[in-house]
Amino acid sequence: MTATVRYRRALLKLSGEALLGDKPFGIDDAVTDRLAGEVEAVLGLGVKVGLVLGGGNIFRGMSIAAEGGNRVAGDQMGMLATVMNAIAFEQKLAGRGLKTRLFSAVPIPTFCETFTQRAAQAAYDAGEAVLFAGGIGSPFVTTDTGAAMRAAEMGADGLFKATMVDGIYTADPKRDPSATRYDHLTFGEAIGKGLKVMDIAAMALARDSGIPIIVFNIHQPGAFIDIVKGGGRATVVAG
Ligand code: UDP
Repeated sequence: MTATVRYRRALLKLSGEALLGDKPFGIDDAVTDRLAGEVEAVLGLGVKVGLVLGGGNIFRGMSIAAEGGNRVAGDQMGMLATVMNAIAFEQKLAGRGLKTRLFSAVPIPTFCETFTQRAAQAAYDAGEAVLFAGGIGSPFVTTDTGAAMRAAEMGADGLFKATMVDGIYTADPKRDPSATRYDHLTFGEAIGKGLKVMDIAAMALARDSGIPIIVFNIHQPGAFIDIVKGGGRATVVAG
């Protein structure tokens, strides 16, 4: 039974940064477990949840490219970082007794299933916690684009972009106390104002697929489930 909810088919994009906690690098065990609890609560409503994990807490291809290295090799390392994060997150979900499925766009058959839309869709529709690792399996994009793509492939009705703040502001609220938060933006406004919501490619894909992007603070306990139910604080980019 699905309770009365605003969103029934969620795709959550979790940046690698979300797993850092207070660490400068890597994965904070307690923070990861707490985030898994936020996902568990939403799955408990009967809402479908897919997760795309970033890798920025471990490696980003741009860091190699910035030093004159090979961007493609760097991006491959970044994609592997997302697999490490997804394995860590899956462990936390499974530890809570949830049925999980981990798909990677980069074939690593000894670790996890290779992504196919059909298998992933079946797991997602069955209400399993479905993790998507490896981005889209190609360089020159980030996991934001991967998240928008998986959202479209799963038929999601909301692309949840987890951040450290409760939405999109007119300026960085940590630096500018006069910054105000948007409740709602159109894709045209978000792109036109150059607001940092997600990559342009991700926003274009979400817009063309008719999927709203919901920017919210994953570190606010209960925020994810509150928004899924139709409340909470967030900026919704749609239309
Ligand atoms: N990446 C890639 N293709 C993809 C997804 C990711 O090449 O489809 C690489 C890219 O180098 C990226 C890194 O993996 O910087 C980690 O992903 P991302 O930067 O999106 O992580 P996040 O910032 O969300 O933690």
